[in-house]
Amino acid sequence: MSATTIRPFLRLSGLEPLVVRPETNFINVGERTNVTGSKKFARLIREGKYEEALSVARQQVENGAQVIDVNMDDALLDGVQAMTTYLNLLQSEPDIAKIPVMIDSSKFEIIEAGLKCVQGKCIVNSISMKEGEEKFIREAIICKNYGAAVVVMAFDEVGQADTKDRKVEICHRAYKILTEQVGFAPQDIIFDPNIFAVATGIEEHNNYAVDFIEATREIKRLMPLAKVSGGVSNVSFSFRGNDHVREAIHSVFLFYAIKAGMDMGIVNAGQLVVYDEIEPQLRQLCEDVLLNRNNDNNEATEKLINFAETVKAKGKEIVKDEAWRNEPVEKRLAHALINGITDYIDADTEEARQQYARPLEVIEGPLMDGMNIVGDLFGAGKMFLPQVVKSARVMKKAVAVLTPYIEEEKRNNPAALQGGAARILLATVKGDVHDIGKNIVGVVLGCNGYDIIDLGVMVPADKILETAKRERADIIGLSGLITPSLDEMVHVAKEMKRQGFTVPLLIGGATTSRTHTAVKIAQEYDHGVIHVLDASRSVTVAGSLLSEDQRGDFLGNIKTEYTRLKDDFANKKSVKQYLPIEAAQQIKSPIKWDEFVPVKPNMLGVKVFKDYDLADLVDFIDWGPFFIAWELHGKFPKILEDEVVGKEATKLYNDARALLDRIITEKWVSANGVIGFWPANSDGDDVVVKDGKDTRLSFLRQQIKKAPGQPQFCLADYIAPADSGKEDYIGAFAVTTGIGIEKWVKHFEDQHDDYNSIMLKALCDRLAEAFAERMHERVRKEFWGYAPAETLSNEELIRENYEGIRPAPGYPACPDHTEKYKLFDMLHATESTGIELTESLAMYPASSVCGWYFANPDSRYFGIGKIEKDQVVQYAQRKGMSVEEIEKWIRPNLEYDI
Ligand code: SAH
Repeated sequence: MSATTIRPFLRLSGLEPLVVRPETNFINVGERTNVTGSKKFARLIREGKYEEALSVARQQVENGAQVIDVNMDDALLDGVQAMTTYLNLLQSEPDIAKIPVMIDSSKFEIIEAGLKCVQGKCIVNSISMKEGEEKFIREAIICKNYGAAVVVMAFDEVGQADTKDRKVEICHRAYKILTEQVGFAPQDIIFDPNIFAVATGIEEHNNYAVDFIEATREIKRLMPLAKVSGGVSNVSFSFRGNDHVREAIHSVFLFYAIKAGMDMGIVNAGQLVVYDEIEPQLRQLCEDVLLNRNNDNNEATEKLINFAETVKAKGKEIVKDEAWRNEPVEKRLAHALINGITDYIDADTEEARQQYARPLEVIEGPLMDGMNIVGDLFGAGKMFLPQVVKSARVMKKAVAVLTPYIEEEKRNNPAALQGGAARILLATVKGDVHDIGKNIVGVVLGCNGYDIIDLGVMVPADKILETAKRERADIIGLSGLITPSLDEMVHVAKEMKRQGFTVPLLIGGATTSRTHTAVKIAQEYDHGVIHVLDASRSVTVAGSLLSEDQRGDFLGNIKTEYTRLKDDFANKKSVKQYLPIEAAQQIKSPIKWDEFVPVKPNMLGVKVFKDYDLADLVDFIDWGPFFIAWELHGKFPKILEDEVVGKEATKLYNDARALLDRIITEKWVSANGVIGFWPANSDGDDVVVKDGKDTRLSFLRQQIKKAPGQPQFCLADYIAPADSGKEDYIGAFAVTTGIGIEKWVKHFEDQHDDYNSIMLKALCDRLAEAFAERMHERVRKEFWGYAPAETLSNEELIRENYEGIRPAPGYPACPDHTEKYKLFDMLHATESTGIELTESLAMYPASSVCGWYFANPDSRYFGIGKIEKDQVVQYAQRKGMSVEEIEKWIRPNLEYDI
C-alpha cells in the first residue's frame, strides 16, 4: 500500500490523535466521570464543583485511560447545561483534553450539546433503533455531520438484544443502514452488544457472557472494520461490594472477549488484575461462571458465591502464594517478570539455559515473552511504573546470568550473533546532571525489547555521536532538565547533520517542549527529530521509527505537524500586551518603606553546616514529588488509599521508607549546607550586597501588562531601596544531600537493580528539599530570627504559609541561572559544601538546592513570564554581558523566541 493511501482505521482525537489500528491493544475508556457510576463525581457536579470534578478526569488520564467517558444523566441535573459546562472546562485542560471524549447519554439533546463543545474527533455513546429507524437515521446523520464516531447499542423496537443471534442481527441491520443509507464510514461504527450481569441466580442469565463473547466474534467476522465495545463492570453486578471477586471476573471476561475481537471497553483500568495472576481456584470459578461451564442448576454460580463469601471473611489477609513454583520454567520466568520477583531468578534462568540450545534463545524466548506482557500491560495502563521498573530488574538479573555464556559463544562463533535487538542510545546532554526521567525511559524501552546504551549525564555531543557510530545506534535520545540544555540539543542536532547521520533523534526532559523541538531543533536535522512526552510514549515512538512499514508515514506526519507548529509560531500575533521596561519599572510592589522596620539577622556573614543530621530532615520531607517521579499521581498521604494506584503507591512508599532508614542509619550520604546574611539595598532592579565586594545582584521584572493597580513584580522590590535611608538585608543558602551517593548508585547498578538506584536518587532529592525546608525554618526562627515564635506543621511548610521566601535562581521569579555564580561566590559554597556548578549551571551532586532568602512580609513567589527585547538589552547591560549570552540562559522567557 502506498504511503499516501488513507487506511480505514478508527481515527479519534483530543488534542492528540488516537488511531485504532488492527494491531492496537485493547482501549481503556475511563468510566469515573459518570454521574450514574461514580458517587463522588455525581456529588461534585451536583454541588457545582466543576474544577474539582476535572480532577476526576485528570486522574483517569493519569491512570492510563485512552478515551474519557462523560455522562451527566442524572434526574437532578440539567444534563445539557452540565455536559456543556464540564466539556468546555475540560477542553481548556491540555493534559485531559489530549485524549478523545466519549459523550455518553441516553438523551440525544445532551449528546448534541456535547458535540458542540469538543474539539477533535469524539465518540457518541450511544444511538440505537430503539425508537425506530427514522430517529436512528436522523441522529446518525447529526453525529456524522459533527464528524463523530458512534457507539450503536444492540437495541431495536422490540428491546435490548440478549442472545447472540439477536445481538448479531440487530448490529448487522444497523450497520447496513449506517453504511448504505447514512454514508457512515464502517470504521467509525462501534457496536455495544450489551454486557449483562451473570450469576444473578436466574438461570436465563447464565449464558449472558457467552452470548456477548460469541456475538463479538461474529460481528467482527461479518463487519471487520467495525469495532466492539461494552461497559465491563455490568457483568459482575451481582458481586457488588466484593471488589476482589469483581476484579477477577472483569479480567477473565476481558481475556475471552478481547480474544474474540472486543476492541475497547468502559473500565476502571487501574482495578484490573492480571489474568495470569488471579489465584487459580478463583480464576477457575470465574471461567466456569462466565463461560457457563459446569453450571447446571447454577452449580458454578453457587460455587463462586461461596468462594466470594470466604474472601470476604478472610478480609485483606495476604496469603503468600507459592504455587507458581510448581509450574514449568517458562511460566516461572514469566511470573517472576510480571510480579517483579527476584528471589529465584538466577536458578530459574540457569535451568532454562540448560534446556535451551543456546543462551540467547532464553532471552529471545521466555524472557522476552514475559517482558512483552509487561510492556502491553503498562501500555494499556494496567501496570504502573514502579512495577515495570521492578520487572526490568528481574530481566536484567536474568540477562546477567546468561551474559557469560553469550560472550563465550561470541568468542567461538562471532557470526552467530549478527542481528539482534534495535539499539537506542540515551544521554543527558552536556552541562546537565538530571537523569531520573532518562533512566526511566531507558528501563521502559528495555522492557520492550530494545538494547539500551545509556551514556549517563553531562555527555558532550562528540561522545554521544562517536558512541552512536561505533555501536551502530538505531535511535539517539537526548534528555535535559535545565534551560541551557535546549541550546545544547540544537548543537547536537547540527553536529548530526554535519557528520552525515541518518538515525532519528528523540528529545525529552522537563525543559523540552514540542514547540521548541519543532521550531529550533527539527530544522537543524533532516532525518527525524521527535519530541517524546513521557516514558510510556517512548515505546510507541520507537516502535514506529523502527518499523519499515510505519517509519515513512510516521516521520511524514511529524514533519507536517512540526512544520505547522513552526509556521504558527512564525505567524503568531501576541495577544498579550507588554509595557516598555522603563514603564514597568515604575510599577513596583507598593511597600511603605518609611514605615518599614528591617529585622537585623542574629548573625551576619556565612555559617557552614557539615554532616548535618539526616534524621532531623525526615519529618520535613514533601512526599508529593516523590510519587510524581514514579509517575503515580495523587496527593500524599491520600494516594496510599487511592482506589486505583493506592496498592502500588503503598508498596512503593514502604520500599522507600525502608531504604531511607538504611541511608540514614548506615550514613550512605552526608548532608552539607551553608547559609549567609548581608546588609543590602535595592538600586532599581538590582540589589547591592555589602559583602565586602559590593556584589550586585540583577533581577528581571514582569513586563506583561497587568490589570490596573497590579504591580509588575520584581524581587528587588522586596529589599529597601538605598534612598529609603534604611539598611535592609538579604540572605542566601546552598544545601546538598548527595555527597557520597555515587558509590551506592554504582553498587545498585552493579547488581542490575535500577529500581533501587532510581529510588536512592529520588530519596536524596527529597532529602535535599527537606534540608532546604528545615534550614529555612531555622533561619526564620534562629539565624535571621524574624519569626522566632513560628510553629508550622510540615503540611503548612509545604504550603508555604511562612513569612518570607527562598526563590531559587533558574526558577520563575529569577530565571537567570548565571546569578548562581554570585550566590556561590558569596557563600564560598563549593569549598564549604562540595556542590559544584556545571558549565550549564546545574548543581552537582544533583540532590542540591540553593536560593536567596527574602524576609519582607510582602515578598511572595511569582513568575516573570515573557519579557521583551528592550528589557533583555537593558539587563545585559546592567550585568555586563552580551545580549546573546543572556538569551541563552533565559530562552523560555523571551517573548520573541521560544
Ligand atoms: N516541597 C517542595 C519544595 C520545592 S519547590 C519539594 O520538596 O519539592 C519550592 C522551591 O522552589 C521554593 O522553595 C523555591 O526555592 C523554589 N521556587 C518555587 N517557586 C518559585 C518561583 N516562582 N521563583 C523562584 N523560586 C521558586
